[in-house]
Amino acid sequence: MGYKLELSEFFSEIYEKGEFPKFKVLINGKWVSTKDSVDLISPVNGEKIAEIGSVSKEQAQEAIDVARKSQNSIRDMAGIDRIEMINKIREEISVHKEEIIKALMLESGKAYSSASGEINALIERMRLSMEDFRKIMGEYLPGDWASDTTQKFALVIREPMGVVLGISPFNYPVFTSISKAVPALLAANSVIIKPPSADPIAFLMVSEIFRKVGVPNGVFQVLTGAGSEIGDFLVSNPGINMVSFTGSTAVGKHISSIAGLKKVHLELGGKAPAIILEDADIDLAARECVKGSLELAGQRCDAVSRILVVEKVKDAFIDAVKRHLSDYKFGDPVADKEVKMGPVISESAAKRIDDMVRDAVKRGAKILAGGKFNKAYYEPTILADVPRDAIIAREETFGPVVTIINVKDENDAINVANDSEYGLDSAVFTNNFYRAWSVMKRIQAGNVTLNAAPSHGTAFFPFGGIKSSGEGKEGIAYSIEEMTAVKTMIFNLSPGGLGKVYTGKFK
Ligand code: NAP
Repeated sequence: MGYKLELSEFFSEIYEKGEFPKFKVLINGKWVSTKDSVDLISPVNGEKIAEIGSVSKEQAQEAIDVARKSQNSIRDMAGIDRIEMINKIREEISVHKEEIIKALMLESGKAYSSASGEINALIERMRLSMEDFRKIMGEYLPGDWASDTTQKFALVIREPMGVVLGISPFNYPVFTSISKAVPALLAANSVIIKPPSADPIAFLMVSEIFRKVGVPNGVFQVLTGAGSEIGDFLVSNPGINMVSFTGSTAVGKHISSIAGLKKVHLELGGKAPAIILEDADIDLAARECVKGSLELAGQRCDAVSRILVVEKVKDAFIDAVKRHLSDYKFGDPVADKEVKMGPVISESAAKRIDDMVRDAVKRGAKILAGGKFNKAYYEPTILADVPRDAIIAREETFGPVVTIINVKDENDAINVANDSEYGLDSAVFTNNFYRAWSVMKRIQAGNVTLNAAPSHGTAFFPFGGIKSSGEGKEGIAYSIEEMTAVKTMIFNLSPGGLGKVYTGKFK
């Protein structure tokens, strides 16, 4: 079906008109054109819908210089005014919400429920961020606890990092970008966001709201372009003080190797296990595992992608999974708002998922449902008896495959769960609290959820991985803390004759 991207007058400055809208980049408070651009192909119908600007190195350097010069304009703004600014942006996003959701669905292939879920989640996250921002305080450390500082005390305060570069992935292009920009601004940094090339439009629309609400020029800037072309220049640039990256483990490792001494926060890939023990509520476990595997067509870092089910309940669990698969209406999300699962991001992504499924089948796995694709549309799939050495049992799937691996018992499940280079999310299903506690303690992961599918970015809960899944924590107060640096201010009181001077000896 031929779909056209049409934006209202409110967003008219963010693109050049033509056969296809050609999107600009935001530098120093102005939308500017780029010499080069790349085509944006919608996964919904495989057709071009827009052109995305490719920022040049000169433009990127200008943005970095401006960000450095402008930082004082946010630093000088009272904290309460920063909160007020974010609140106005939040209100204005709500006004334009449906238009943003529509663009997000077309560029990313998200179902209405997922796209609206993403935008609603970021609106809520902005509200919670304003609460947690008030917790940036510091501490008073008395000096009279140590003999060489009896006449001193220290205040430990948190200062902005300076210029924060946020790089976000295609699966949550708006939410992730906002989860970096908002804490960075609240903590009085300048921020430059590099959104993903596959689907940056909804975030560019949100960025226009930042600009129109009046974020000081140069404090919030947005640069688009292929990460493989402009990424190294930005990441290794001495004008950037911190890189906050969310994306694949491969790119994350590369970024950490070229960033130099600047602070690097990495939210990377995952391979979340869900352990189903014999005393679990099987229907609940199946429903949550299907949701965890299929939501957003499985393109989530916290997706359930290895279901480790103990032998005793395997058949009952598979029957329940088959029942719940029909909860996910599959098809063109733009044509039908009831669709719960649309295409993956591109036809080549669907092909990569299919290669993983074929590899597992070759090694003995059985397809119980789905297992086929047409262009970017990969069917909701159930894969059972998946051998532990199959590629899909070890590498990130990022596709809608309910992947079931048999395990003997609790210990076997934990061994398989931990035998992975990743350590992002995990889940345990059991109705025995003491077993839950023991398994949750032994799983190697940044997050472990009891009796539900993992879910990043909810409420005030922090998230972030261990092993090859990342470094650092995101999650409102945690993000704000990551985007500040500790400064110790030491006060010498001896000239004023204050403080105790200990002259005696012990005993
Ligand atoms: P990706 O290929 O690693 O890309 C992520 C971002 O990095 C994009 O903006 C990309 O730009 C940019 N990039 C690529 N090469 C770069 C370079 N050399 N220097 C700087 N930036 C560069 O990941 P993706 O496919 O978009 O997203 C999926 C991955 O993200 C999965 O592995 C998923 O698990 C992970 N993820 C993790 C979390 C978490 O919280 N841990 C959350 C969401 C997603 P282009 O788009 O222009 O290539």
